[in-house]
Amino acid sequence: MAANTQQALDFQLYINGEWTPARSGETFDVFNPANGERVARVAKAGSSDVDAAIAAARQTFDSGVWSRRTPQERAAVLNQFARKIVENAQELGYLEVISSGATIRRVSSMDIMGSAFVMQQSAGFALEYCYVNHLGPGIGAPSNNQVWREPLGVVAAITPWNFPMILAMWKLAPALAMGNSVVVKPATYTPLSTLKLAQLATEAGIPPGVFNVVAGPGASIGEALVKDPRVDKVAFTGSTEVGQRIMELASGTVKRVTLELGGKSPAIVLPDADLELTIPGLLYGFCLHTGQVCQSGTRILVHDSMYDQVLEGMSQMAAKIKIGNTLDPSTGMGPLVSNQQLDTVLGYIQSGLDEGARLVYGGKRITDSGLDKGHYVEPTIFADVRNDMKIAQEEIFGPVASVIRYSSVEEAIEIANDTIYGLAAGVWSCDVNQALKISRELKAGTVWINDWHAIRPDAPFGGYKQSGFGRELGRQSLDEYSQVKHVHVSLTPELRQRPWASSLF
Ligand code: NAD
Repeated sequence: MAANTQQALDFQLYINGEWTPARSGETFDVFNPANGERVARVAKAGSSDVDAAIAAARQTFDSGVWSRRTPQERAAVLNQFARKIVENAQELGYLEVISSGATIRRVSSMDIMGSAFVMQQSAGFALEYCYVNHLGPGIGAPSNNQVWREPLGVVAAITPWNFPMILAMWKLAPALAMGNSVVVKPATYTPLSTLKLAQLATEAGIPPGVFNVVAGPGASIGEALVKDPRVDKVAFTGSTEVGQRIMELASGTVKRVTLELGGKSPAIVLPDADLELTIPGLLYGFCLHTGQVCQSGTRILVHDSMYDQVLEGMSQMAAKIKIGNTLDPSTGMGPLVSNQQLDTVLGYIQSGLDEGARLVYGGKRITDSGLDKGHYVEPTIFADVRNDMKIAQEEIFGPVASVIRYSSVEEAIEIANDTIYGLAAGVWSCDVNQALKISRELKAGTVWINDWHAIRPDAPFGGYKQSGFGRELGRQSLDEYSQVKHVHVSLTPELRQRPWASSLF
């Protein structure tokens, strides 16, 4: 069980319904991005721990203890799991804040309720799901034909550090709803809330072995999960680079894969946009969670006629964001997750300057007293950005906006689509018909009109192009965790009535 020590929390792995130390006895430390303090020591899984987790998942799946329960029985347990999440909101929220650098203000409203809603929504979808589809009359001879939907088996879920709890739930909820067993590998910066979720799942009635968590390095235990022939599917959220590696490795055992990868989402501001709404919306688009969000609106395309006005408004609005202690409910923006991420973001800011972009706001690490031990950076706005610059093409994963000028709608659409990514896009305009027309041209899995980060559990989320494939959330997510079987029952008792009898004999 997770126990409080004087300085830091101790977490073990969660395998077969029990807290389990790593076989090697090794651990790794988790640090608070806001102040650099060590907040937890976590068991570091090795290949034998991964083996034990997969074995537990495989055994429980094959036993039918979860996979063969009725959808009604599974839905009741999942709803109980959702209640457990809400009951334990304070602890889950705390664990998320001290490891990921999220603000308590966001986690307590969006992440906790978002996680519980996803679980409830998947339980609801499971009740309505079409598990058996009866086909029409037999072709050539009477038959009964059914198409069944069955669970896949063992799912490996590999998650990133930016939204550890929510992104684990996006995979767990549909996987469990369809009867699969799961092994989750959270990112090494942020394993705490996922480990706690596994304990809550057991308390809610999910049988031991159905939901296991192994924490440790992606390159070793992540790859072990992807290569293992007992694993039927890998559900991955993370960088495009690692997604490519996973696809390659999964091909060895022809595993199903869904990939939610990076983004460089364009926000098109039309000349008729309501700037009272648009300017805070643009800031929310690229500053939520200090810009460490895959669907951040980091390329802001602004019409010539209002370019300077929008830049001025954005700078004024950026100055109003309260940056600081993540456990203070009045804080709007926290730190980046790590020193390494801080270096990456500062490196991109330097590259923007080197390539001739004009820095109009921010651009520096924040070293004010109290924040100097954390990985804080200012919201940063670049003007005069060309779409071929590095800061416009690569995912920075920090609060850095590239504001690009355009003069016609056609040009804006062309710039918006000129990227390897296609996760999200947006249009800010008072003319909804015009915005809808533009949406049809945008190559992205989600388009927001006069909004950003508006994700709901019943709407599918996923990428076009190199932002990945497969969809999380929405009714379709249950398809991603099940497979199709066709069952044909001949209704013709005599050999001579069968169409094939005359073709061979
Ligand atoms: P990452 O790709 O470095 O790591 C993601 C996970 O994969 C971690 O658990 C990591 O340990 C594991 N991993 C690393 N190497 C591995 C390997 N060789 N084999 C198997 N697993 C491996 O990503 P990150 O830095 O944790 O997260 C940031 C990235 O995630 C960004 O690119 C962001 O856009 C993306 N992201 C995408 C979405 C989405 O829904 N599209 C959501 C959140 C984050």
